[in-house]
Amino acid sequence: MSKSLNSIKKENGENFEQCSICEKSLIKDLFFVEKAYQRNLNGEGFFILFEFAICQTCKQELGLKLSKESFQKMQNYLLAHQAQIQKNTQKESAEICSFSGQELSEGEAFHQVFMIQNGTPLGAPISMSDVIMEEYQALLSEKTKDFFEEFYHEYIDVPPAMARLLNPKQKTVLL
Ligand SMILES: [Zn+2]
Repeated sequence: MSKSLNSIKKENGENFEQCSICEKSLIKDLFFVEKAYQRNLNGEGFFILFEFAICQTCKQELGLKLSKESFQKMQNYLLAHQAQIQKNTQKESAEICSFSGQELSEGEAFHQVFMIQNGTPLGAPISMSDVIMEEYQALLSEKTKDFFEEFYHEYIDVPPAMARLLNPKQKTVLL
């Protein structure tokens, strides 16, 4: 697995200090980090495809821009998996999907979402396997998918050569 797994630092070893959306300082605030991992082309191990930090205000604003129906479905999905998530995130070093318990190394891609305050993670990250990401994104309305698409293009840097090779489902999930 990748060295950076379960790490709240950037891939380059620096701390996340700014919201990737509004650029305000995150030193003292509660914020979230999402990291997307993709299997290396040679099939061995994973690399970080993208990573970003988002402050609470921006996250709430994004939530308001989603259709009510999609937002409700996303909430219901999380609620329905609450018991599994609680169980699967008990060990901080776990390398399993928080929703299904599947080994992350078995899939082609996975995401991790961290909650961070004062430079310290609040509990273990939520990990989402590619199978679960697909299930989760299938819940979203076309309007919400378009919204995530725009968000992704505006704020997430993926090298163009890489973007062409990607599974089109490898987009932000923003729990
Ligand atoms: Zn922000």
